Amino acid sequence: MPVKLRITLLFCLISFVILAMVCATVYYFSYTQRSHNIRTRLTNRAITLARLLGQSQLFDQQLIRKIDSSTSLTLKDKTFQAYDYLNNQIYSYSDAPADTLTIDTSVLDDARVKGTIFFKTDNKEAVAYHYANPNTRIVVITAAYDAEGKAQIRVLRNILWFSFLAGIMIACVGGYFFSDRLLQPIKKIADDINEISAHNLARRIGTGTAKDEWFYLAETLNRLMNRLQDSFETQRRFVSNASHELSTPLTAISSQLEVSLQKNRDAQQYRGVMESVYQDVRHLSKLTQTLLEFAQASGDPGGINLLPVRMDEILMSLPAEMKKSNPEYLVNLSFDDMPAEEEKLIVFGNAELLFTAIKNIVTNACKYSDDHKATIKLKAEADVITIAISDKGKGIPQGELKYIFQPFYRVNSTSHQSGFGLGLSLANRIIKLHKGNITVSSVIGSGSEFVITVPTAKF
Ligand code: ADP
Repeated sequence: MPVKLRITLLFCLISFVILAMVCATVYYFSYTQRSHNIRTRLTNRAITLARLLGQSQLFDQQLIRKIDSSTSLTLKDKTFQAYDYLNNQIYSYSDAPADTLTIDTSVLDDARVKGTIFFKTDNKEAVAYHYANPNTRIVVITAAYDAEGKAQIRVLRNILWFSFLAGIMIACVGGYFFSDRLLQPIKKIADDINEISAHNLARRIGTGTAKDEWFYLAETLNRLMNRLQDSFETQRRFVSNASHELSTPLTAISSQLEVSLQKNRDAQQYRGVMESVYQDVRHLSKLTQTLLEFAQASGDPGGINLLPVRMDEILMSLPAEMKKSNPEYLVNLSFDDMPAEEEKLIVFGNAELLFTAIKNIVTNACKYSDDHKATIKLKAEADVITIAISDKGKGIPQGELKYIFQPFYRVNSTSHQSGFGLGLSLANRIIKLHKGNITVSSVIGSGSEFVITVPTAKF
């Protein structure tokens, strides 16, 4: 069922319940008030009549009837009757002479016991009142049709029905327009979103001026769009940079082969070309390997095999690994702050990825410093492990620090060194994958320090 219809129905239902309750309450109290009024008037009349009849020496029945007929009491079809203690009718008066009441003796007995009782007879409301004094004991019945009260109740009932039905109709129509107005911003947001595609990712949803929930929704979607646009942009830059990096050695290989195939060469020349091509192929293979690692680290963390890993063990394998890649590279390990508990050194993660991340940073420290020396300090605290990798190299200009973690970014002054500009970006992704962080501080001419923090495994 459409939301618009649902809101309208809910609106109608709430209005129905409220209106029904109000109308029913008004009707109930008016109805009971009318009953109460007629009873009071009939009781008063019964008391007066009983007193007059009790003084028969002063008022004869003829006189009392005259009083009854000329009373200003606005009661219709009045009938008054009185019975002595033997249930003999001693007095009777009615507006229409033929209009008499047939009173059951049980009513009279009941009145004698209770004093005053109310009952209905032939569409009339009636009161039986027991009057007793030392000379007489009589029961007076006063009955009348409450034409005025019932007419008022009928008018009130019609007014209430009219208000109820009109109220429901207004609620339904109002609910429809209200829900339409309420949902209009959603339609607008959906229309705006429909117009956004990969070609116009910079387009945003109109937020309007009112700071309401729709504004918040549009703002949230716009923030999501910002993130998507950033990620699209990064992806696009990455693909274009990767293609460029891949095409450079391929172009070099193809032109070298093309030139050497133009005429016959001696064995020495072929060997030279082959060696050069071999260098380019190695470069290509290294690049594709790095790109593969990059893809792995960029994927869903759920797809990566995570196990408890001892960080000190990973660090200990680095000096030999660095030496293997370049005999000049020297790594100095400093484990001064080793914790007593072994758990504080364990991270829940992927050992190979963590090794790659740290190795990339250590390689940079050795590669970009004249002494080719890197110092690694390990510090284990209650919840995090901190690894600081420092060198005494040429340093990184302050303005470039924020870019060095972007894929393919290389600082100009170091472009003579081999590299793809992917090492730090890959390291950053891996550490982020392990819910950690990398910060860098550097002083030109003095060196750089990269600090990795990763949360320890919770056992
Ligand atoms: P690369 O393959 O170029 O080393 P990275 O992503 O590892 O790529 O590093 C990006 C750039 O950051 C490098 O080109 C280099 O200019 C700079 N850089 C990284 N680490 C250091 C360091 N320890 N000292 C000086 N410059 C560094």
